[in-house]
Formats: sequence, C-alpha cells, structure tokens
Amino acid sequence: MKYIAFLSFGKDSLAQIIKIKELQLPLDEVVYVDIRFDKDISGEHPAMAAWIPTAEKILLDRFGIKVKHLTAKYTFRDYFYRIKQKGNHIGDNYGYPYIVGAWCNARLKLDVIDTYISSLHDTVCEYIGIAADETPRYQRLMRRNNEKVVYKSVLFENGIIEREAFEICRPFDLISPVYSNGGFRGGCWFCVKQCYADLYDLWKNYPSYFSVLVEMEKDSHNTFKPRLSLKELMERFENGYIPERRKTR
Ligand code: SF4
Repeated sequence: MKYIAFLSFGKDSLAQIIKIKELQLPLDEVVYVDIRFDKDISGEHPAMAAWIPTAEKILLDRFGIKVKHLTAKYTFRDYFYRIKQKGNHIGDNYGYPYIVGAWCNARLKLDVIDTYISSLHDTVCEYIGIAADETPRYQRLMRRNNEKVVYKSVLFENGIIEREAFEICRPFDLISPVYSNGGFRGGCWFCVKQCYADLYDLWKNYPSYFSVLVEMEKDSHNTFKPRLSLKELMERFENGYIPERRKTR
C-alpha cells in the first residue's frame, strides 16, 4: 500500500503531516494539487501563493519532505472560455461556475487526483486533514472507502480540533499568512463560493485580480454571484460598503 498525504498548505493538512512524522506513521508521498488561474497565475490567494515556496522549504529542511505538484492539463481560464457541448447552455462558454456543483472543483482538482491515483499500481491510503470538530466531513470521507483507496485523517483519529491545528503548526512557522486577515475560508481567489468580505479584501488589496474577474464576467452567461454582478458589487465597495466577516478564526 502507498501512503499519500494530500496537502493544501492550510493549517489542517500541514498539522496532519507534522503529526504523521511525530507518530512515525507510514508516509510515501505528500501531494499538492496546483490549481492554475492561467499558465502564469496560481489559483491560490496571492498571499498563499507567495508563501507556499517558504512552506515547502520548511517541510524539506525540517522533515525531509519534497512536495509533489499535480496540475490539470487546462487552467480555470481555459475552461471558462471553452464552449459547452452538452447540458444546459450548449453553445455558451462554461463561464463562472455555479455555487452548487461548481465545474471547476471536478476539472481542476478531483479529476487530477483520481487520474493520479488510478495511475498507481498499488492500493492507496490517502491522508486527508480533517479536524475532530468536522464530524460530518469525516463521515462523508469514510463513505468513500473502496477497494483501491482507504482514507484516514490523523487529526480526526487523534481528537485534534481545528484550533489545535494552529498550535501544532505554529512552532514550525507553518501558518499561512492568509489566516491573518481574520477568516479567509481558503480556496481559489476567483472562487464563486467566497464571501463578500473576501471579495472586498480582493478588491481592496489585489485590485488587478478583481478587475480581471469583472472583465471576464462580461463574457460569462451568468453573473459571478447568483443575483449580483461583480460590477454592481464593486460599485457598492466604491460607495463605502464594507461587508462584515461572519466567521473569525
Ligand atoms: S476553491 Fe472554488 S474556485 Fe477553486 S476549485 Fe474549489 S470551487 Fe472551484
């Protein structure tokens, strides 16, 4: 069996790797799915993208881990402009994903993992960083066990909750700067699921990124948010609207 830890560079997956090493559990590979906005720009929040090389150096120096990168053949932008051949909106481009069943999650991440796992001759144990206070997520993961892949979460199985994951990462300087803005949910900077507070942060601190999304919206059959265009949201921001952040970490 091949033991693979999937890494997002968030606190949970990093804390899990530290625990795997501490507990001397088997680990053959650490894998990161590198989602691309286009060939030059990462899908990660810009602060996360800038920090990842630092985190990779720490993993190499402290734990001897070299992270393997997997990337989809096509980028978010490639798919956005691809013409749909079936389903709803045949003849339109993919445009922005819908919040439920976002096309990007399968094409840019899940399919990449599946293709990689299928290419391996061994059976696989996938370590997924799910904290002990995420029971429904863990239960969903366990339902996915099959003949080829078994799933494990070292955090869940050792009763480590999300808050404690920070404390495990802290001594190794393995806490991404994205957490310092008070509640960034993780995921891509162009994610349609992000809250207005994260979009405000993007508009304020990374205006060129926000502008790209506004421009692309002109080419999408749907708006970025279900009943609100990014252009309208931008006008609200310009008029002083500052969204409140619901959840703080
Ligand atoms: S984080 Fe959002 S944009 Fe990125 S793949 Fe997942 S659903 Fe798509």
